[in-house]
Amino acid sequence: MRVGHGFDAHRLVEGRALILGGVNVPFERGALGHSDADVLAHALADALLGAAALGDLGGRFPDTDPRWKDADSMELLAACARDVAEAGFDITNVDATIVVDRPKLGPLIARMRENIADRLAIPPACVSVKAKTSEGMGYTGDGSGIAVFAVASLAKIASR
Ligand code: MG
Repeated sequence: MRVGHGFDAHRLVEGRALILGGVNVPFERGALGHSDADVLAHALADALLGAAALGDLGGRFPDTDPRWKDADSMELLAACARDVAEAGFDITNVDATIVVDRPKLGPLIARMRENIADRLAIPPACVSVKAKTSEGMGYTGDGSGIAVFAVASLAKIASR
């Protein structure tokens, strides 16, 4: 059994969409980034790559590469899941915590879980997404940014 950890944070700015786990979240600001800046997908991808000791998302898809400009980060997450499978691992479960005071994400969590489960080819029951506030403190509390912490657990496929 292997465990990996991932973290990501992005600025929240006007004129950008806020996409979390492939869900377009209605909000007056969105995450700034080279790709679609899906901070949830990025943290999960780093947790998966970390569990398999395959480096990190920035190494796999450099933000200096024009190919990944405005990239669909759920596609990048799916590619990382394929890398993990090729390295001989099954994904057991993933768990993520989104830290942001606004917007409230509760009603959208189920769709995020379904999207992630679909891209990782695991049941939604093996995908957990939680949302927490930081009670006005720091960049996740004052609205200037959003952060996600994630963990992933993998099992080595016995035949490999
Ligand atoms: Mg990122």
